[in-house]
Amino acid sequence: MSIKPRIIIHGGAGNITPGNIGEKLPQYRKSLLRILKDSHGLLLKPGARALDVAVHAVALLEDDPLFNCGKGAVFTRDGTNELEASVMVSNGYKKRGVGCSLLRQVKNPIKLAAEMLKRGEDEDGDGAGNHCQLSGKKLEQLAETWGLELVDPKYFWTKNRWEQHKRGLEKEAILVNVEPELSHSVVGDATWDPDEYVPQGTTGCVVLDSFGTIAVATSTGGLTNKNTGRIGDTPTIGAGFWAEEWLQQPLSPLNDILRIAGSVPNILQGLYNDIVGVACRHFAKREDQIDSRPRDIRHAIGISGTGNGDSFLRLSAARTTAAISKYSYRSLAKAITQVAGPGGDLQNSAGDDWGQTGLGEAGMIGIELIDDVGSICFDYNRGMFRAYITDDGKAVFGAFRGDD
Ligand code: ASP
Repeated sequence: MSIKPRIIIHGGAGNITPGNIGEKLPQYRKSLLRILKDSHGLLLKPGARALDVAVHAVALLEDDPLFNCGKGAVFTRDGTNELEASVMVSNGYKKRGVGCSLLRQVKNPIKLAAEMLKRGEDEDGDGAGNHCQLSGKKLEQLAETWGLELVDPKYFWTKNRWEQHKRGLEKEAILVNVEPELSHSVVGDATWDPDEYVPQGTTGCVVLDSFGTIAVATSTGGLTNKNTGRIGDTPTIGAGFWAEEWLQQPLSPLNDILRIAGSVPNILQGLYNDIVGVACRHFAKREDQIDSRPRDIRHAIGISGTGNGDSFLRLSAARTTAAISKYSYRSLAKAITQVAGPGGDLQNSAGDDWGQTGLGEAGMIGIELIDDVGSICFDYNRGMFRAYITDDGKAVFGAFRGDD
């Protein structure tokens, strides 16, 4: 069965508005489209694997100082860079997903995450054990052993990020010292500015290959002026990323209609699914005897998130989105909107902080495979840089609503 490969990338979500991005928008468009087209070319080569293509795309994003990862990573409060990255696949590797954090010297953290996943096929994970999350010095020593490129931490210094770091700390100091009545709402928010896009701005890629495997790669410098030692959603399985596949029993025409309508109240839908589930299991037993038994339908999804990682962590946002899709028979597109779209779970989780801090600001990109048809989806609750190849092969870039 031939599956048409798909690809989508993102370059960060958050307080992105025409007013505060202005003349930088063409730079984002140019970089994202360049990286998308290059990676799509690789994906179309015979035998291309989703994981390799996703890692290739994110490594290019890491090398581009425009994005908050690798060379363009933001600074911690202490003026250091602590990088994070993760990969996950819907099938094919024992570990399924891995996260790396507190990296200061690995040039391309996404390549390290991919190595940790691939080397997980060995009994001792080639030194990483059976672990899915590792961090810091020990992990960087492993990276060196595995032949990955390490750089002087100065490599990650960029003027633009350094100025954002300084401005954030200065603003915080002024507000805390001069206007104490405001300090409550401002402490800790050297991470966010209402008038400037201060990343928030992970990068990520989701790829479906011709074999039907979905891979997700995500990489970040984290939040500007985060506390040193802070670990976000990007290296945390289920928070900032997820990939999974399962076999779905063929649905009855009635359930197909319900799924397409998508508007049946959840309780009724749940009740109906329970009844159908019992019936399917009952008939499956009998159909086991028959050669012409309808085959199960392959269903796979992949999600990469961007935005305020603390909000993603509190909601286990990526896995929650996947679970909505898997267990309530909603399309991944609808599940993403429910969690990361306007007025969705992530926005609501910010409460009164919405629009006052970066909390709740979010975006997600994803791919859903049903049987042999893959579709691209995404949503966000403010702005999100994204680029993807459409059904008919066009490369599209967007940052705001209505761009696509
Ligand atoms: N989600 C990541 C974090 O909070 C980075 C980002 O998208 O800002 O660390």
